[in-house]
Order: sequence, then structure tokens, then C-alpha cells
Amino acid sequence: MSLTLDEARARAALLYNVVYDVSLDLTDRETFGVAASVRFDCAEPGADTFLELTDALDLVVAGANEWSYDGRRIHLSGLEASNEVRVGARLPYVTDGDGMHTFTDPADGETYVSAYIGMDIAQRVFPCFDQNDLKAPLTLHVTAPEGWTALANARAIAHEGGRWDFDRTPPIPTAMFVVCAGPWHSVTWEHTGPDGRTLPFGWHARRSLAAELDRDAEELRRVTEQCFDHYSTIFDEPYAFDSYDQAFVPGQNWGALETPGCVTYRDEYLPIGRVTEGERRRRATVIAHEMAHMWFGDLVTMRWWEDTWLNESFADYMGFRVVEEAAGFEGSFVDFTVRRKPGAYAADERRSTHPVAAIAEEVADVDLAAGNFDSISYAKGNSVLRQLVTWLGDDAFLAGVNAYLTRHRFDNATLADFVDALDAVTDRDVRGWAQVWLRTTGFDTLRVSRDADGPVLTREGSRPHRVRVTSYDASLARIDSRLLDIGDDPIRLGDAEIVVPNSAGETFARIRLDDRSWEAVERHLASIPDDDTRAVLWSGGFDLVRSGELPATDFLGLVTRHLTREPEVTIVESVLAWTLSTLIPQHLAPADIMGAVAQVAAACESGLASEPDPEVAVVLSRSFAETTPDAVLLEQWLLDRATHTGIELDPTMRWSAIRRLAALGALTPEQIDDERHGDGTVVGELGAARALAAIPHPEAKARAWARMFEDPHVSNRMFVASAEGFWDPEQVELVHPYVARYLAEAPTVARTCGQAFSLLLGKSFPNIPLGEADVAAVEAALAGDVPTVLRREWEDSLDDLRLTLPR
Ligand SMILES: [Zn+2]
Repeated sequence: MSLTLDEARARAALLYNVVYDVSLDLTDRETFGVAASVRFDCAEPGADTFLELTDALDLVVAGANEWSYDGRRIHLSGLEASNEVRVGARLPYVTDGDGMHTFTDPADGETYVSAYIGMDIAQRVFPCFDQNDLKAPLTLHVTAPEGWTALANARAIAHEGGRWDFDRTPPIPTAMFVVCAGPWHSVTWEHTGPDGRTLPFGWHARRSLAAELDRDAEELRRVTEQCFDHYSTIFDEPYAFDSYDQAFVPGQNWGALETPGCVTYRDEYLPIGRVTEGERRRRATVIAHEMAHMWFGDLVTMRWWEDTWLNESFADYMGFRVVEEAAGFEGSFVDFTVRRKPGAYAADERRSTHPVAAIAEEVADVDLAAGNFDSISYAKGNSVLRQLVTWLGDDAFLAGVNAYLTRHRFDNATLADFVDALDAVTDRDVRGWAQVWLRTTGFDTLRVSRDADGPVLTREGSRPHRVRVTSYDASLARIDSRLLDIGDDPIRLGDAEIVVPNSAGETFARIRLDDRSWEAVERHLASIPDDDTRAVLWSGGFDLVRSGELPATDFLGLVTRHLTREPEVTIVESVLAWTLSTLIPQHLAPADIMGAVAQVAAACESGLASEPDPEVAVVLSRSFAETTPDAVLLEQWLLDRATHTGIELDPTMRWSAIRRLAALGALTPEQIDDERHGDGTVVGELGAARALAAIPHPEAKARAWARMFEDPHVSNRMFVASAEGFWDPEQVELVHPYVARYLAEAPTVARTCGQAFSLLLGKSFPNIPLGEADVAAVEAALAGDVPTVLRREWEDSLDDLRLTLPR
């Protein structure tokens, strides 16, 4: 059982002035050593408390009047007014990204050891009071093999041989501790910010990715400096830490983690081979997102996990905004609208939805809190903040944000603190606004209808919206585009062929067009001149399918007619991704799937024939490789090391082709293994696992299953790659028998693994056509003992599945 809200509140009331001094010994490959001093004051001498520390071996505790250990917590009795508890132990490494993660690079045999923390994980690395509102300064010492570099929250102040001493941090939450050790390849420099302060910066990657880091170093440095200078300008509070390192690390479960002073990114963000425009944009957005956390989350930290949105909604919004404002990636909200926002609408219709700002008591323990790192806290919260800025004005928004950050610096805060700060800088009713936008679930509908006098816009719901409404004439020329305040009263609009509310995506609402507008959209979608509007219409199409108002086959028709002419690469990439990951496996009957996959391949082929922008051509080629039934053509690609339209095969495209060939039954396990040897990197290891799992043969499926569920040391990445290859919607007859095994075996794994791996288990829910009998099987499984994090994922999948059944 994880830490409960009641336990956290009691401990926060009891303890104060917590200070950590932590020494880690990473020189042994079997276990790592920790020696820690935890100093703290106690408001009620004589009381009891506990330090968390998971699975400690050789545990020694000194400085406590009485103590006992249950494998998870060190119980301390008879506290003094001032205490210093010293703990020594050895702890296990992990390969699932939840703790002290160890990874040996197949490319060169080098080993890397990194602690990626987050909720409830610091206790797998050092003894601590593992909750956000006991922030504490921390001094770290690391002993690592000679030749390694150690990175951590603060800058290294002494380094000799394998010994690294880091400066003391300002007060940080335990969840934000980080250490990354290994023979990193580094690009470091000093940068002077707008306030005249000079800090050390660095980008780091595995040694085998040195060429890739050097290739992208100039852009990574530019984006870092531009975002840093921008935040330093718009926020009154200076950057609070003494250095800014960023590392591409192996096995990170999240996109990245905002650990102060040293951000870790999953190293897939530094791809071998081609870096597409979409990948550069997404990476830059994540850089801006994580840097926003230095203020939202690291300087000011949510008190308990119900206010996850104070971290994630702000960082998500600022990430998309600042990457455009400061780092030159134009149209970033087009990307948000079509790639991220659709998931938030889906999440807001599931039973698990919650207000953007939840009530603390509804997040009773940390396992439940894990579920709130979802599309509501990120993408819906982002949308709601964007609506707040549109409704309130940017000056007032930033004034409120700055008052909030300054008042609660190095401390904790809640929704009430943010609303108080905002309320003090504006005459608008922000308390009423927060009530309807932050404290409720669901969303309004903005509906266009027509009567004899022309189009009318009405709101079905209860929230105020300020949005852009754009109209086009029959030749698709824009005839009107303006911001409107939409409330209770219908708004009459000028006559037009197409009327699109929320055309720039400023609000979070379902849009429904009148028949005449939608029919025109179906005819002309790719020719509508505004990227924002097309993104809104495509994602509106996802919603129509999900709501059962547009047949999946009609959506495929839009792909065939319009995606092939779509100029904006982000839209092409996101629509193809949604079509392949959601529309085909979840909204089509098994008999229609093969035809639909071939239809997507044909659409990509036709798009490629029209000589698109080179970035669009890469995206179309990748999707073609994933969908074509033409094994002979793909074999030729591998021989030529290029596609039939002349695009060079990089590892990503090569492994897409290999996986597709495997799924078509055109490659043997031996041939895939030869490819793995030829590649020699972790990309090849994972690509081969994906391809082997995709072979349409019972023996191959059984081997992949054993790798996923019977290997106790399976890494997070290997599990995901195998699951991706395994659940192939074109192989539903072959893999459907495994649905029952998945439902039976996943809870057993989830009972012993961390939250992040539990999430991966849940996200590997069978992505194949399922029916009424499967719904009953999932319901029966949920009636049993399913651990919290997995249960949440299954309930979400079940809610989605029910929507796809015939109504
Ligand atoms: Zn974040």
C-alpha cells in the first residue's frame, strides 16, 4: 500500500526543518549502497513517525531511540525535539525505470546507472519522508567507477577519482531527486541570462550516441538558451537552482522528468538517423515544458497530488506556448490540437475523469494519484489555461502567476493559493471562472445550426467561452474571423458556406457543425486555408467517430481524399497515428481491418506520388512501411537501403519495414536476428523484439509472451516493444486467445512492480477488435483483485471499448 493522504498530513504536521545528506556507492553491479543522515525537528517530542525505504538489505539505523523495519518503512519511536537518524543499507537496482535504473549499452558494453524518481520512488534510492510538503535541502555524494560522470540536482563542487561531491540544493521535494552516472558524452557551456547571472549548462547522452548529440547540439543549446531567457524574463522569480543539465537517458518511463537542475529525457528523443521536423518540434516542446517546471513544481510545489495540475497543466501550456514565442517553432498549438487534445476529450468522457483541480480527499493515496498524471491534468488543463489567458488577458494572467510564484517560493501551494493570487490582480470573477472550469468535469458543446436567416451559434453547457469563430465562402476564402464571447444567448453569424467555432482552438469544447458546413468540409477539407482550422476539423472528425456520429469508413474516406493533399506535416503525422492506433483496431469489424490497412497504404502511396514537401514524404513513407501488403517492395527497400521514392532508410524506417515484413510472414526469426546483429544498438534490440513478436505464427507469439510475462528481469522498453509487435489487429484470430491470459497474468505482475511499469502493463491492453464477450471478461477480471494503477487503465480501456460496440 502506498502513502495515504492522512499519513502525509499527520507527518507534515509533526515534522519540520528536514535536511538530508546522502552518499551513494554505485561501484558494485549487484546492489548499490546508501548512507544517509536525515535531520529533522519534531513538534511533539516523544511522538512516532516513519522513514520510507524499500527492500533494504544489510540495514543499519543509528540515532533513533527505537526503530523497526518492515521492508518498506523504518518506524521511529520516541522522537526528540531535534533528531539526526543515520541509515546505511544496500538496495537493488531496477530495469523498469522505477528506481536506480541500470542499463548496459549493447553498442559498446558501457553501463549507466540513473535514479529517475517521481511519486513514491525516492524511497527506492534513499531513506526519506517521501511526500511533497516536506521539502528539504539535500547534499549528495556519489562514488562511481572511475571514468564516469555523475550528474545531480546541484553542481558538483569536488570531484576526485570516482568520488563526486555536490553542492547543497535549495529545499526540493523528494520526488524531484536525481542522479545520473555513467561514461556520458557531454556538451557543456556557460550561459549568462537576462539577469546577468552566469550558470553552467550541459547536454549529456550515452557515449554510443555521441555523434547524434554532436549533430543536434547546436539546436539543443539554442532552444535551451532561448527558453531559459524567456522564462527568466516573464517570471519575476529568478531560476532557483545553480546549474542546468539535461541528459538523454536510457529507460526513462516518462517523456522526461523535471528534476531541478538536471532534467532527464527518454533517449528516444535523440534518434539515430533522421530527425524529422515533427520530432524536433516535439523535443523542443518537451524542453520548454520541463523548464517551466523549474518554477511550476520545483520552486513552488503542490501540497498533495490532487494539485498535479499546478505542475502539469502549467508546464504543458507553457511548453507549447514558449516553444513558439521564444524558440521559433511556429504553429505549436496546431500540433497540440490534433495530437494531444483529442486524448483529453476522450479522457473526460470516461468514468475516471476528474476536475482539472481535484479535491484532495478524492486522491486518498499515492497509487490513486498515479492515475491523475493523465490527459485531464496535462492536455485538458493546458486547454483550460489557454482559455483563461484568452478570457482574462495575458497581462493579468502573468501578474497572477508571478504573485503566486513569489508568495510560495520554495514552499507548497494549492488551487486556492493560485486563485487568490489571480483574484488580486483582476476585476473579473476568477473565482466563478475557476469553479466552472477547474472544479467540474466534462465539456460544453458549441453547435452551429441554420435557419432562414443564416447560421446561429449556441452553447450547450454552462461555461463562459471566448473563442475565435471563422467563416469561409464557397471558394474557401475566409470571410470573417473574430473572437466572440459565448454564453447563454445564441449568436447569429453572417451567412457563409462553412462556419467553424473554436477555429483556433482556444477553448475546450466539442464542436458540431451544421449539415451544410460539414458537407462542405467533407468536400474541401485539405483546401481550407488555415492550419489551425484544419487541425480543429480533423480532431473534430476523431470525436465524431468516437461519438458514433461518423462511421469509421467515412473517416477513412477523408484520409483517402484529403490527407494525401494535407500540407501541414504535424496534421499528416497525427491523423495517420490516430487512424492506425485507434480507428482501425478499435472502430472496425475484424473482416474490414485488412482492407482498411491497405487503404491507408494506398493513401500514403498516392500522397507520395504527388511530390509532397520532403518532411511530409518521410511521414508518408514511414506509414506506408507500416501498412503496405507488398512484401516484395519492402524487401527491395532493405536491399537498396532506400524507399522506392528514393528516401534513405534510417534505422527507424528500416525497422518499420522489418516489422511489417515479419507481420506479413515474410521474415524468419533467424533473418530478424541477423538484422539485430547488423544494427548492434538498443534500437536494433527493441526493433527485433517488436518484429519477432509480430510474426504470425503460434510459436512466435508464445515466445514473445514468455518474454513479456515470464522473464522477471524484462526491461520496461523490452516489454513495450514486444507488446507493440504482439497485438496486431490484422492477426486477431491468432492473438485473441491471449486476451484471457493478459487479464489473468497482468495483475500478478502489477502487484510487485512500480507504478510506471503498472501503467505500461495497462497500456498494453489488447489493441485489437474486441466484442461483447471481451467486455464481460474485462468486467469479470475487474471484479477480482486488480492493483490500483492497473485497474484505472483497464477501466479506461473498458469505457473506450463499450463506445465501439454496436449501439
Ligand atoms: Zn511535466
